[in-house]
Amino acid sequence: MVIFRSVFDNFLHLRRNGYFLDAVEEFKKYGGTSMNIVNFPDYNYAPEDHYTKLYEETISVAREASNRGVNTVITIGPYPLDYFYFISAGIDPILSMKTGIDLAARMIREGKADAMGEIGFPHFPVEDNVYKDSGKILEYALDVCKDYDIPLILHTEDMSSHGYAKIEEIIKKHYSIDRVMKHHANAVDLGYSTSILKSLVASRNNVRIALESGSDFLLETDYTDQREKPGKVIPVYSVPKRCEMIKNSCINYSEIFHRIFEEIPYRFYRKEFFDL
Ligand SMILES: [Zn+2]
Repeated sequence: MVIFRSVFDNFLHLRRNGYFLDAVEEFKKYGGTSMNIVNFPDYNYAPEDHYTKLYEETISVAREASNRGVNTVITIGPYPLDYFYFISAGIDPILSMKTGIDLAARMIREGKADAMGEIGFPHFPVEDNVYKDSGKILEYALDVCKDYDIPLILHTEDMSSHGYAKIEEIIKKHYSIDRVMKHHANAVDLGYSTSILKSLVASRNNVRIALESGSDFLLETDYTDQREKPGKVIPVYSVPKRCEMIKNSCINYSEIFHRIFEEIPYRFYRKEFFDL
């Protein structure tokens, strides 16, 4: 294993009843140094204080991870599928999720977390009214993030260039494009004419295409830390693993690491998290 100054996984989940700190140790073992920890939906929390409990848990999980010697970015916010949870509880989903956005913004302003996410649309086809409501929630989040200058991470279906153009139009009406990122993006998306920053799943193929493109990108695992589905997720050490691949295929690898693990994350989060 080669040690690099900064190896950043831009999007993962950690759960107390998943591999949790063992996953952090595994990440470190392969050379990982920093991670963006995103809240993982947990519908065991009652609807009334759902977001308070969820965000506090994410922040506490991140604190424990950082005690193990990794730098953390913390992302909190309503998840698009929370919509269905509130519907089945007989509660207005738009109102509840807007309250969740307000609370996340407040905690970010207090310095307890760093970014708003994952906001946007379900990743599978939904009825028109759900799509419209999700759009309203996204617009609200963009407005709040603009007011407080908070970076926003999008969760959407896989998008075509038309899909990116449509969402870019919404973003530009409400906020600045350089503070919005699409997570779980595909490398082919880098070819679309959109300035939304893309966080790519750290597969070998994505990394290969991304390097050829010369475009800005970030790498993530979207690791879900579920003991019950170990084979379904990309391993937690995938970003550090891809570093080996980049090092072996690019002479200017240290420049690339500086860009994707330090420069771009700093530009987006405005947080110096990469110096251990
Ligand atoms: Zn997502």
